[in-house]
Amino acid sequence: MKKVLRRSWVEISLSQVVENCQVYQAHSSTENIMAVVKADAYGHGAVEVSKILESIGVCNFAVSNIDEAIELRNAGIKGEVLILGYTPIEEVENLIRYDIVQTLLSSEYATQLINYGSKIKCQYAIDTGMNRIGLNADDVHMCEREIRRASKYLVLMGMYTHLCVADSDLQECNIFTEEQIQKFENVVTAVKDLDLPYIHCLNSAGGLWHRADAGEFSRVGIALYGLKPDYLNILPEGIKPAMEWKSVISMIKTVYAGETIGYGRTYLVEKDMRIATVSTGYADGYDRRLSNKGYVLINGKKAPIVGRICMDQFMIDVSEIECNIYDEVILLGNSGALSITADDMAHTIGTIGYEVVCSISKRVQRKYIY
Ligand SMILES: *Cc1c(COP(=O)(O)O)cnc(C)c1O
Repeated sequence: MKKVLRRSWVEISLSQVVENCQVYQAHSSTENIMAVVKADAYGHGAVEVSKILESIGVCNFAVSNIDEAIELRNAGIKGEVLILGYTPIEEVENLIRYDIVQTLLSSEYATQLINYGSKIKCQYAIDTGMNRIGLNADDVHMCEREIRRASKYLVLMGMYTHLCVADSDLQECNIFTEEQIQKFENVVTAVKDLDLPYIHCLNSAGGLWHRADAGEFSRVGIALYGLKPDYLNILPEGIKPAMEWKSVISMIKTVYAGETIGYGRTYLVEKDMRIATVSTGYADGYDRRLSNKGYVLINGKKAPIVGRICMDQFMIDVSEIECNIYDEVILLGNSGALSITADDMAHTIGTIGYEVVCSISKRVQRKYIY
C-alpha cells in the first residue's frame, strides 16, 4: 500500500542536489568532488543522494562508519567509499568484504590494521590544527615515517586533513586556514615519491573560499544540500536547499484571554486568539528550543509557535491567517514570497543548519522529487 504523507514529511529534490553539485563544481578551486553522505546524507537519504550523484559522474563518497558504508554497497553504489571515522577492529573484515576505504586515525590504529593480516584499503588522516584525529602535521618526520610504514603494509590510497575555520572570513581564520593547508602540503611533499592518488584537504567552505596546491578533491557535504557552512556565508547563486519539511494542521480552535497554551503553561493568552495544532513534534526532530520562538508558514504567511513543542505536536497562532483544518504547514521551505531555511531555524536556536537537517528523525517520511 502506498504511504499517505499527511502527518509530517520531507520532500527532497534530487534535481536540486544535482544542481548544487554542478554549481559547486563550477565555483570550486578543485576539479573533483568527494560527496560527503554521512548521517544519511545529512538527513536527505544517503542511498538516493549517492545514486543520483553517481549517475552524473561522482565516483567518490564519504561516510562516517561501516554501517553507512555497507548501506551504500548494498544499494549498488560502485564508487570508492571512504569511512571518515572509527571502525572497531571487530568490524574490519567488512572493510575487505565490501571494498571500503578506512581512515587511519592514529599510528596505534594503523598498527592494529597492519596486524590484522589482510591488506586493507586506507587513507591517513593528518591533523593540521583541528585536534580531532590524525597524525600531527607539526612533526613532518614522524608523519613521513608513519605514511611510509602504512604504504608498505596496507593499501594506502592517500591522505587528507580537515579544516576547522574555512567558513569564516575573519582575517585570523583565513590565516589559520592557510597555515593548515601549508602544514598539510609539507607532509604531502615529504612523501611525494609514493604518488598517492587521494590527496585532499578542502570541505565545502574550503573548496569555495580557499585553494590548495595539494589535491584535486573537495570533500563536499553541506553545500550539496544547499545549506551554508556558516550563517554569515553567501553561497554561489544557484545553490539552494534541497529539502522542504511539511506537516498539517490537525485542529483549529479559539482560546480566550487568561488561558494558557501547552506544557508548563509558558504561553499566556492575552486576548482571544485562534490557534492551530501542527502534527509534528520533537520526536520528529523539530527542535524543542523553538518553543515560543520559531514560526511556520501557512498560505504565504508567518504563524508564530505558541507554547512548548510537544513530542508529537505543537501549537501556532493563526489569528491573522486564513487557514483551515488539514491545511499544509511549511516547517522548512517556501510559501508565497516567504521562506524558512534550516540555516534560519538553526540561527533562531543557536545551532547550525547541519544539526537541524541531521536531526529530522526516521519517522518523518522522505519523499523524493526528481
Ligand atoms: C563532515 C566532513 C566533511 C564535510 O564537511 P561540509 O562542511 O559538510 O562540507 C568533510 N571532511 C570531513 C573529514 C568531515 O568530517
